[in-house]
Amino acid sequence: MASSDGNGGNAPRPVVTRFAPSPTGFLHIGNARTGLFSWLYARHFGGKALLRIEDTDKKRSTQEAIDVILDGLDWLGLDFDGETVFQSAQAGRHAEVAQKLLDAGKAYKCFATPEELTEMREAQRAAKQPMRYDGRWRDRDPSEASEGAPYTIRIKTPEGGETVIQDAVQGRVKVDNRELDDFILLRADGSPTYMLAVVVDDMDMGCTHIIRGDDHLNNAFRQIQVIDAMQGVEDGWERPTYAHVPLIHGNDGAKLSKRHGALGVRDYREMGILPETLFNYLLRLGWGHGDQEEFSAEEAIALFDIDAVGKGPSRFDMKKLLNMNGNYIRAADDTRLAGLVAERIGPQADAGLLTDAMPVLKMRAKDLIELSDGAAFLFKQRPLEIDEKAAGLLNDEARARLSAISQRLRAETDWTIEALEANLKAYAEELELGLGKLAQPLRAALTGQTTSPGIFDVLVLLGKEESLARIDAQAAA
Ligand code: GLU
Repeated sequence: MASSDGNGGNAPRPVVTRFAPSPTGFLHIGNARTGLFSWLYARHFGGKALLRIEDTDKKRSTQEAIDVILDGLDWLGLDFDGETVFQSAQAGRHAEVAQKLLDAGKAYKCFATPEELTEMREAQRAAKQPMRYDGRWRDRDPSEASEGAPYTIRIKTPEGGETVIQDAVQGRVKVDNRELDDFILLRADGSPTYMLAVVVDDMDMGCTHIIRGDDHLNNAFRQIQVIDAMQGVEDGWERPTYAHVPLIHGNDGAKLSKRHGALGVRDYREMGILPETLFNYLLRLGWGHGDQEEFSAEEAIALFDIDAVGKGPSRFDMKKLLNMNGNYIRAADDTRLAGLVAERIGPQADAGLLTDAMPVLKMRAKDLIELSDGAAFLFKQRPLEIDEKAAGLLNDEARARLSAISQRLRAETDWTIEALEANLKAYAEELELGLGKLAQPLRAALTGQTTSPGIFDVLVLLGKEESLARIDAQAAA
């Protein structure tokens, strides 16, 4: 599939893809997925993965909104090639292309006023006709317009025939050219329309493959008109291969929206999802390779092809994502996890102790929040804050037992899981109690909580001195 369809059988060009997000204030996970696919496709074929920020909406395109995208991509490990292109900086070039099309007779000036166009649309609506520009200035001479009257530049779309796209995901899709009206390329104020800007940039960046959401399929039919019209006007205008990837849906089958949960890459980061999890999860949403569930970036690059992207919408499943995240947490390097958890806990966190504790802590956590909550006991200051559930376990009987435990453990010279287990088991047997019954108040005293890693792990991680101090504080209370 590396060769570009529709380029008349020329030798395959080196692959160039682009990811073209608009700064909307967040990096939508659906967009991130098409960014990932574009990046992987270029990497797989040893081509170039380019990044273009579509910042033509000046109000929304703040530096902050742009940084959200750049940070999100960086966090996911998607390193794009070359300089990032900013669409707004290309406005002059967009206008130049419109002018060239005008000069070549492939576009024309339209002097219709906004009021006139509204009237036209209303008449079409009343007549139950499709609402589209009726070409009223297509064949008129501009001299018919009054002196200095504002005008837009519209493309001349073909009056008959059809436009066919051999889409790498959707297959053969086509539109009757009569459905395409002569859309605006350049507005009356000289600013380019989105439809023009996108396609000029795609061509100037040398894109061979456009991988994006299938909500842009209709735009592709229009963008192709500009490409076709520019052939013979300027070199290098070749139709790219399009791959319109189905959008992500929620678990209920409806298009993914806020009510399904977080939509931004940053939200997932804050939720404590690891970047490799989101990378892998987005990859697996719509793409697969046999039964394999998890892929490293290197494996994904080696195996990715657009052919294996499904045509049907994929469903976002938070539970699956969290399970996957748990697997990635268990596989992650302990020092790295300790650093990530320390950031969440704050300055009192000791990265060395966290690293030592990590093999035990990470066994159960599904995200970094759980991991940090599970680690918090290590850094609590005495007197420990005891939560309500834990306080419920610390009755008089329990306190008396904690006193006894304290004495036994003080005498313990071998502060290891095995020795501590043997010691407390012996005491439980003496009392004819299950070990769990002893462990519960002990956990409450040591952690202030009712959930924690295994009690012997807790004792070893806290060390003898701190453990005894915490037990004694509750035993005496
Ligand atoms: N900027 C568009 C978006 O964020 C994408 C345009 C394209 O990929 O052609 O939806």
